[in-house]
Amino acid sequence: MSASKRVAVVGVGTMGSQAAWRLAARGAEVVGYDRFAPGHDRSAAGGETRIFRSAHFEDSRYVPLLKHADALWEQLQQETGRELRRLTGCLLMGPTGHQQMATVLESIAEHGLDHEVLDAEGLAKRFPQFRIEDGDAAVLDRHAGYIRPELTIQTAARHAEQLGARIHRYTTVREIVPVANGVEIRTDAGSEHFDTAVVTVGPWVNDLLPELPWEVDIRRLISAWYVPTADAWFGEERPAFIRTAPTHCYGLPSPDGVSVKLGLSRALHRPAGDPNQLDRTVQPEELEIFTDLIGRYMPDLSPDPVRLSVYMEGYTESSRPLVGPLPGAENVVLLAGFSGHGFKLAPAFGDIAADLALDGTSPRPIDFVSTIDRTEA
Ligand SMILES: Cc1cc2nc3c(=O)[nH]c(=O)nc-3n(C[C@H](O)[C@H](O)[C@H](O)COP(=O)(O)OP(=O)(O)OC[C@H]3O[C@@H](n4cnc5c(N)ncnc54)[C@H](O)[C@@H]3O)c2cc1C
Repeated sequence: MSASKRVAVVGVGTMGSQAAWRLAARGAEVVGYDRFAPGHDRSAAGGETRIFRSAHFEDSRYVPLLKHADALWEQLQQETGRELRRLTGCLLMGPTGHQQMATVLESIAEHGLDHEVLDAEGLAKRFPQFRIEDGDAAVLDRHAGYIRPELTIQTAARHAEQLGARIHRYTTVREIVPVANGVEIRTDAGSEHFDTAVVTVGPWVNDLLPELPWEVDIRRLISAWYVPTADAWFGEERPAFIRTAPTHCYGLPSPDGVSVKLGLSRALHRPAGDPNQLDRTVQPEELEIFTDLIGRYMPDLSPDPVRLSVYMEGYTESSRPLVGPLPGAENVVLLAGFSGHGFKLAPAFGDIAADLALDGTSPRPIDFVSTIDRTEA
């Protein structure tokens, strides 16, 4: 390991804060840059909660990475003394024959994950806040729950600083220029030379790297908070939840016990347009789909939202992120396109970024997300 390498982390958000921590922990000289400050709400993070789950319905190849992330979540909490994650379970509900339900059961069986399968009667008794339909199944992933995104990013960034990293806040990187023996980072204040750069700019990836050979589609995501009219939402068990079909949606009881946050799947998000000009106003017609979902599956939620927020996220065509060297620039490590499921994995991807930046390779099973020889996103 080349512990004395100078590494730039461009974008100290979800992935960048974790990369800065893992790099600094390994003795690298780390300099982070963010156009805002760690923990802000102008990008892909924010809104108080993100779901953590062990079972993966997109692809069971994520499970080993989730296990690695799980260990690092524990480590970060122990080293900093902050509760970043709470394991309250996650209920997955949807038609029995649906592909995502099948993949979850596959990853549970393949990796021996702690779970319970509930029938309609069991669900109604234990979690009366949800309705399911004939032919639906419900699976409770027990090693699951919620993460606090703002606290996590600030905690990881601060921990990195305590380990020696420097973070330039409110400093936009304008250009990343590969040069002999490294890379130059250009900001309005000048330029700095590094051995390697880790690029974790989230929704700004096309803005900073316009020549990227893959498409990362930047979408505008609405989070909507609703107040329950019954107590079940905040009982002893208060799992996060995902409904797979016919309309994919998810939700989390908020940590303060006041409201329930709902969100929708990729197919229902509008393109974000220029990330510097994100439209943060939610029109009443954009809420109709939330109202329908509440009426059908969560009738104890009052359908008038008490809070609305808008975020951005980059999606690849396959929903698999892009992780690895930028083509033609071996000293630039790219992490982008987390496609709505990156937060739970962030410590693992931060660690993988540190592997790639310091050693040029990672022992983790990342072929399926690698940029190397990747023709399609
Ligand atoms: C509403 C919503 C709900 C989600 N729910 C979940 C969930 O429940 N579970 C889950 O696992 N995942 C979830 N995700 C996905 C997860 O939040 C994202 O995959 C993850 O946050 C992406 O991290 P990132 O580091 O790529 O981007 P960000 O966290 O956005 O970080 C990018 C950073 O780069 C900075 N930056 C950009 N351009 C520059 C520049 N030129 N110079 C300097 N700095 C720059 C930005 O300011 C920002 O801080 C959700 C996403 C959204 C939007």
